[in-house]
Order: sequence, then C-alpha cells, then structure tokens
Amino acid sequence: MYDIIIIGAGPAGLTSALYALRANKKILIFEAKNYGGQIINASNIENYPGISSISGFDFATNLYNQVKNLNGEIKYETVIRIEEDKTVITNKDKYKGKAVIIATGVTSRKLNLPNEEKFIGKGVSYCATCDGNFFKNKIVAINGGGNTALEDALYLSSIVSKVYLIHRREEFRGDAKYLDELKKKDNIEFILNSNIVSLNGDENLESITLEDINNNIKEIKIDGLFIAIGQEPKNAVFSNVVELDSKGYIISGDGVHTKLPGIYVAGDARVKILRQLTTAVSDGSIAATIAIKEIN
Ligand code: NAP
Repeated sequence: MYDIIIIGAGPAGLTSALYALRANKKILIFEAKNYGGQIINASNIENYPGISSISGFDFATNLYNQVKNLNGEIKYETVIRIEEDKTVITNKDKYKGKAVIIATGVTSRKLNLPNEEKFIGKGVSYCATCDGNFFKNKIVAINGGGNTALEDALYLSSIVSKVYLIHRREEFRGDAKYLDELKKKDNIEFILNSNIVSLNGDENLESITLEDINNNIKEIKIDGLFIAIGQEPKNAVFSNVVELDSKGYIISGDGVHTKLPGIYVAGDARVKILRQLTTAVSDGSIAATIAIKEIN
C-alpha cells in the first residue's frame, strides 16, 4: 500500500513527489516513457521565476535527481486504468494507493495525414531539439504558429540549410519577440495561410504538398518535417473516475480535486487557463499538500 501514487514524471508529477517525500509519505511514480515531460524538449526556459535561463533538460534532470535523492520510487509502466478504490492498474501489475495524483500532461498533436505514422523517424519529428541534428545542412519545414514552432524555427535555422515555416493563418499565436528574430534570418521562408495536405515519399519523407486558402496547391521538397501544432491530453483511460471536458482535459473546478475523493489532477492534464512550467509545479505542490492532509 502506497500513500500516494503519482501518474506521470513531468514537472507536475515530480513536484508532487518532492512534496510528498518531504512529508515522509510512501510514494510511487509511474512514467510511460522518460522523466521530464514536455519541458525536457524546451531548448531554453527564461520565464521561470528566479532562474534567468536553464535548458529544459537540465531543469527536468535537476528535479528528477531531487526526487531520487529522497528515495522516490519510479516505475516505467503505463497506467491503463484507475479503480474507484484507488487501485492503479498498469500494463504489468496492480498497485494500491491511499491517494492518486494524475499528472499525465499532454502529448504532441498529430496532423492525422496518411503516412504520418509511417514517416516518424524517417523525416517526420515532433521534437526539434531531439532530432534537429539529424538534419544538418539539409532542408526542413516546421508546421505551426505557436511559440514551439517559432522557437523550433530559430533553433533549426542555425543547424540546417533552409527552414520553411508553414502556418495555416496570417497571424502567429507565438510571441512577437521570436517573430522579430526569425525575420532577421536569411534561411527562413514563411509560408502562410497554408495547410499541409500530404506527406510524400517512398521509404523516407521526400516532399510535402501544401494547399493555401485560395485552394492553390504546391509541392516542396524537404528532408525533414517538424510538426509543432500544439498538444492534446491523453486522459481517456481515466474517464471512469474523472470528468473530462470536450477536448479531453480533466475538469477539476479551479483546483486539483476531481469528482472522486482521493483522486487529484495536477499540471497540463487538467482544464486550466495557463499551461506552463510555473503552473504545473504549482499544481503539483498543491495536489500533494492536499493529498497529505486528507491521508493524515
Ligand atoms: P499552441 O500555442 O497551441 O500553438 C499551436 C499552433 O499550431 C497554432 O498556431 C495553431 O494554429 C496551429 N495548429 C493547431 N492545429 C493545427 C492543425 N491541425 N494544422 C495546422 N496547424 C495547427 O502550441 P505550442 O506552440 O506547442 O505551445 C503550447 C504552450 O506552450 C503555449 O502556451 C506556449 O506559449 C507555451 N510555450 C512557451 C514557450 C516559451 O515560453 N519559451 C516555448 C514553447 C511553448 P492557430 O494559431 O491557427 O490556432
């Protein structure tokens, strides 16, 4: 029997673990892939109070080490169900907790085009900082208009020979600061008001077909495509114990409580106004503190 089972080893889950361990609670963290969550892909974090600049990898690793140094237990298993009695079922076993914190974050949104799955690792990527180096001196495209796409374009422009930045609208959602920097680069070409309609190639991605708002079609040859069109939650497996909104985020009022006592949600997985590192760690600390109080 664990005091608190935490699902997800991103900033929210690891912060919950840190607070629970410091209160001498017996915890278990489940992580399906790697510790760190989405932030591990951020090349540079400059908006975390008190830290002027740190890479996402260093931030996540420091937090992970903080938890490991307090003997936090992490199992790399995928949670497939939570029972109402707080039994957590993974792809390998069953575990019982007095409380459960869901901190599963979000996952990269797909274009849902034919061939997208087939070309992952063969020209299609969802992480510029992870895969950018495979495209040294080659031609790449980035799809998206948020901060991730803009940051990725800046990062890749110093590695590759040419970057096409493809966005479906005229206006960007990302910060003007990034846009100003991008406009100064001579190897970045903006393709606006356009959607990618097909991914072409045999074994590897070789080109993409674009359609603009006037239904004009054009094909561009590229070696790599970085898809940065936002994120989606992955909470469907928890729908027996939590309430989801129309986009699949967990409804938790204005806090971390779900509809069931003893089951909490922290971080990007829940309905909230701002999905950022600061709000993820805030949720993680609040969820753990409430869980500790309610267990006691
Ligand atoms: P985002 O802000 O949600 O932007 C997603 C972009 O993809 C939007 O421009 C959207 O277009 C476009 N898009 C969505 N679905 C699409 C589709 N099916 N086809 C084509 N385009 C599509 O996502 P994000 O850039 O990943 O950022 C997520 C959050 O993290 C944001 O709050 C962001 O500010 C934050 N972030 C911060 C930093 C930083 O501070 N350094 C860095 C990265 C991310 P529309 O604009 O037309 O909707």
